[in-house]
Amino acid sequence: MKTKLMRAKYLIPMTKNGENLDRIEDGYILFQEKILEVGRYSEEIANRIINKYGEHLEIIGNSDSTRVPQLNGVILPGFIKAHGHDHESTIIGIAKDQPLTVWLDAAVNPFTEWIHNSKDQLTEQLGISPYLLTYTKARVDDISFGITTALTHHCNFNKYHVNELAEASEVVGTRIFIAVGSQDRNYYEKILDSVDEALLRLDKYLADNQNLDRVTIIPGPDQFFSNGPELLKALKQWSRDHNTLMHIHSSEEPNTTKWFTNKYGFSPVGYADSIGFLDNRTMLAHQVHSTKDDIEIMAKHNVMVVHNPLANTILGSGMPLILDMIDAGIRVSISTDGSGSADSQNMLSAARLASQYQKALNQDATVLGAEEVLQMITTIPAEMLGINAGSLEIGKDADIIMVDLSKPNMVPTIKETVLENIIWASAGNEISYVIANGKTLIDNYAFTTVDIKELNHKMQDLAKVFEQYRVNASKIKGTGANV
Ligand SMILES: [Zn+2]
Repeated sequence: MKTKLMRAKYLIPMTKNGENLDRIEDGYILFQEKILEVGRYSEEIANRIINKYGEHLEIIGNSDSTRVPQLNGVILPGFIKAHGHDHESTIIGIAKDQPLTVWLDAAVNPFTEWIHNSKDQLTEQLGISPYLLTYTKARVDDISFGITTALTHHCNFNKYHVNELAEASEVVGTRIFIAVGSQDRNYYEKILDSVDEALLRLDKYLADNQNLDRVTIIPGPDQFFSNGPELLKALKQWSRDHNTLMHIHSSEEPNTTKWFTNKYGFSPVGYADSIGFLDNRTMLAHQVHSTKDDIEIMAKHNVMVVHNPLANTILGSGMPLILDMIDAGIRVSISTDGSGSADSQNMLSAARLASQYQKALNQDATVLGAEEVLQMITTIPAEMLGINAGSLEIGKDADIIMVDLSKPNMVPTIKETVLENIIWASAGNEISYVIANGKTLIDNYAFTTVDIKELNHKMQDLAKVFEQYRVNASKIKGTGANV
């Protein structure tokens, strides 16, 4: 691999040298798979680097290796998405304006069942496995919004197709955590597991992917309402035995949250606590509906919460008490959820909404500021996932993006406003360069690892064929533990 040098108008390394995050004007970064140097650019530095690396140096944004152009952008660490689903690109726009469980039955379950049952026929029709196609599109969606690491919660029929997701991630060049789904109650009956089936599935996918450095397999029981106590206990033991994270949807919408109180006399968090499920490696996605006791329990066990404001507001689920959680010392990151519920993978939009909502709710413009929400999509999820990324420092993995400042909405941007404009002025898709593990995945808006035209064309075909199926398919009902 060549050594690469990138220079831009601004660089935000996500480090602090005092109270506030550093902002570097005319910044540069030198890297291979790891970051070698980062800081303020000068001609002396450029001359030293060019002399040292010569023809083995690649200068980003310039084909000759003697001049170092200052790109009109902001260099940042790649964003880290700690909760999403990679099958949902195809169902964007379907069953909108519906609550969570209705949307699951009208969009997610029909699509995942159809693609599962029609795999061979679709593979022939499309010239590619519909899973590989869909997952590749999801990986492309991620990088187009600057996401270089994702945790994909692989539920529903997707739990039978983990290796294709790993393959898609390898092809596109992202780092991925695959939380392998399970369900044994209150869910579509065709995909209910026994405890043994769920454990054997984890064993198999762990073995199948053990040689892929950038793929991590962890348990991802779908939700507390859809996984009974014996299954959850067994999965938690598996995660302890294998020293992995544990990922699950929790307290996402009001009805299923109430169901726990009726059945167990506990909230979902109380239920999880009562079976020994909570610890510092447990990640709760959503956790929209929390009591004061829930927050105490979560803080006591040092669990992690992944907040998905786009999905929570679109599905009308509610919004979590993020500020109370943070005050209690709970680690909270911001994510998008799947493309079907969030309608995009726009991480900056999710960060902005998280901040905007809390300011309005608390009638206080000072809460959850730009610096804090930027940390919640970089350094905080990096720490949660235990990866060597999330900031631009020597020795960290070279996961680097650039936010383009040439778009009208980003003008003017100066050193004093650069961080604020990334959160408040950006549309979220001004991502002109994406580098993951030192490899360039997006080069001045051009995708380097996939044929984007062909991919988009096939996704259009897949959506059309699914729509033909969907209008005549028998309706699925009954997902969710409704009271
Ligand atoms: Zn989700």
